[in-house]
Amino acid sequence: MKTGKGISIRRFLPILVITAFFLLQGAAGDTKVYVTNSGKKYHRENCASLRRSKVEVSLLDVVKSGYSPCTSCKPPVLDEGEAQAVAEQSQAGFYRVNIVALERSAAADPERMLGAEVISHVDGDTVRVRIPNPPEGVGTLETIRLIGVDTPETVHPRREVEFFGREASDFTKRELLGKQVRLAFDWDTRDKYGRLLVYIYTADGNCHNAALIREGYGHAYTRFTFQFMDEFRALEEEARREKRGLWGDR
Ligand SMILES: [Zn+2]
Repeated sequence: MKTGKGISIRRFLPILVITAFFLLQGAAGDTKVYVTNSGKKYHRENCASLRRSKVEVSLLDVVKSGYSPCTSCKPPVLDEGEAQAVAEQSQAGFYRVNIVALERSAAADPERMLGAEVISHVDGDTVRVRIPNPPEGVGTLETIRLIGVDTPETVHPRREVEFFGREASDFTKRELLGKQVRLAFDWDTRDKYGRLLVYIYTADGNCHNAALIREGYGHAYTRFTFQFMDEFRALEEEARREKRGLWGDR
C-alpha cells in the first residue's frame, strides 16, 4: 500500500477527534450525578432522595435532559458557558423523554419530538427513517436503533437467537413501515455504529420500544443505562409471565 498525505492525516485524526471531544464535553461530561427513576431532580451520591432508585449519569446529560438540581443536597451545576451551550443545543429538536412519559402518552409531548417517516425496515429493533427537518448533527436519512430493546436476530446462524426473530421483524414492519412517527432521545444520541438511538412513538401515542417488549417480541436491553430501564424490565417480566411471543412454548 502506498503511503502519502492520507496516512499522516489519518494518524492525526484520532488526536483531533479526541481533543475536540474533550473540549466540547468540558468538565461537566465527567462529573457524575444521580437521578431517581421518577423524579426530575438530580442529586449527589449520598442524597436521601436516592433511597428507592439511583441511576448514575453525567451532569451534562442530566441538564440536557431537563433535570434540575436538588435543593437539599445541592449537587454541582454547569458553569455559565456549558449551560449556554446546552440551551443552544436543546433548541435543536432533541426532545428527550423523561420518566413520566412512557405509559402516560399524554405526558410524552409528541409535538416537541422530531417528526420522521419510516422508509425501510431492517429488523425488529432497527429501521431507516427520513427526517424532513433534522436538527444539527442529524441527517435527513438516518438508521435508527431502538433504545432499550433487543429483538432476536433474523440473520444470525445460531438457532436459539433466531427464535421469534421473523415475528419480531414483521411486527416492526407492520407497525412502522411507511408510517409517520415521532422520535425522542435519551442520554446518548448515537451508538458506536453511528445509528441514532431513539424511542419511536407511533401516531396513536404509543412507544414502539415498549410495545416490542410488552408483546414478547424482544427483551429489555439493559447493558447501557437509559431512563426507562426499570419499566422495560417490568414489561419483560410481564411478557415472560404471560408467555407472550418469544417467551411462549416452542
Ligand atoms: Zn438531593
